[in-house]
Amino acid sequence: MARFLSVSSGSNGNCYYIGNERTALIVDAGIGFRTLKSRLAGAGVDVSSVEMVFVTHDHADHVRGLASVAQKLSVPVFTTARLHDALSRNRYVGPDFAGSRRVLRPGFETVIRGVRCVNFEVPHDASQTLGYFLDFFGTRFVFMTDLGRVPEYAYRYCAEADYVIIESNYDVDMLMRGPYPPDLKYRIIGDNGHLSNDDCAAAVRRFWHPGLKGIFLCHLSKDNNTPSLAFASTFRALGSMGLSVPGDLQLVCLPRSEVFSLEF
Ligand SMILES: [Zn+2]
Ligand SMILES: [Zn+2]
Repeated sequence: MARFLSVSSGSNGNCYYIGNERTALIVDAGIGFRTLKSRLAGAGVDVSSVEMVFVTHDHADHVRGLASVAQKLSVPVFTTARLHDALSRNRYVGPDFAGSRRVLRPGFETVIRGVRCVNFEVPHDASQTLGYFLDFFGTRFVFMTDLGRVPEYAYRYCAEADYVIIESNYDVDMLMRGPYPPDLKYRIIGDNGHLSNDDCAAAVRRFWHPGLKGIFLCHLSKDNNTPSLAFASTFRALGSMGLSVPGDLQLVCLPRSEVFSLEF
């Protein structure tokens, strides 16, 4: 049985799991080893099955637990040379973390333990930020968490995906009326910030294709969004194309701290 688990999603920490009886991986380690272990166990997954870690970027909510996870599991950590360099200077990771660093060439395709993996750069204000296309033994996932806009070439990967995990970070009105200082608001809204619910819905309208089985909305802001606003925005976009949820495809807002589980 193959599973996708959203282990944690949002500024409190991001971590996603894909695994079957042959191998398992996580994308990002924004939570510590103990939390990862207990949440996976709660979903019936043994943490020791995780054989590789992919990192999207060097913001704390994606790498806060990387050192502990890499040390306890002693598994390879995959990301670009630029991000490895940044991680070695990151206060949460540092130069001595015990996992082995494996370098991914930006934009290149590799097959690792049977998983076809392509990374692609997305605009965001980290040292570098990656989206991932992961073909997990025939089921294809696109991860796009933390990005200010969806770059043109990313649509190519979405067009082949069975499942897209895409950020739906903020509601524009909530953000603009909320308590954040103006410079932070404009950082979030900017091209190197985050996707709003409207941005996400517009992207979904563009990349939907008949083979798409599910859209998972990730990285919802606690302060500037609600699951019902994020859901409604993409739900309307799908409805405007004559699509029904869940009849035609699955649409889920990934919870911040609970596990969401999909069998595929
Ligand atoms: Zn983030
Ligand atoms: Zn970020």
